[in-house]
Amino acid sequence: MDFKEHIRVINDFPKEGISYKDITTLLRNGEVFRASIDALVERIKPWQPEVIVGPEARGFLLGAPLAYALGIGFVPVRKPGKLPGKTVRETYALEYGFDTLAVHADAIAPGTRVVIVDDLLATGGTMLATANLMKKIGADMLGMGFLIELTFLNGREKLTEYPVFSLVQY
Ligand code: IMP
Repeated sequence: MDFKEHIRVINDFPKEGISYKDITTLLRNGEVFRASIDALVERIKPWQPEVIVGPEARGFLLGAPLAYALGIGFVPVRKPGKLPGKTVRETYALEYGFDTLAVHADAIAPGTRVVIVDDLLATGGTMLATANLMKKIGADMLGMGFLIELTFLNGREKLTEYPVFSLVQY
């Protein structure tokens, strides 16, 4: 299936010069949504993960159904202040300023086989911070998968430690 056909591109969102990839048009189509999860399953199943991890917020939209399809657990990585239990945090640089991600300290037992999934790889900052969080809690990081990759931003260069794949490239 050509997923690109179902991703809407909106120019100058959220600010001028950005060509935003909108996946709501893919998600609202049941056949296409299911096919995208099936395609992720096909790529990720051979890694034999025990847990899927997804960063807030669009990582939840793909990560949770993916984990369900694989019959394994899902662990959310969230903005600080959202998770009720004791958390581990990772702060990373944005174009302007910093951002922080958090995960429950007891979410993943050391040595657990983990794959991270997100909707889109841009600069790689979000995924690297998520991977660093996994390192901190001792997860066995198998790799990372994306629906979309913006190849011109070279996000992969930050993620060379891990196997990385994407279903659609711009
Ligand atoms: P990065 O940290 O620069 O790789 O940015 C990736 C994060 O920003 C992901 O969690 C995406 O959900 C979000 N993001 C960046 N650009 C877009 C876009 O064009 N469409 C949807 N999400 C985006």
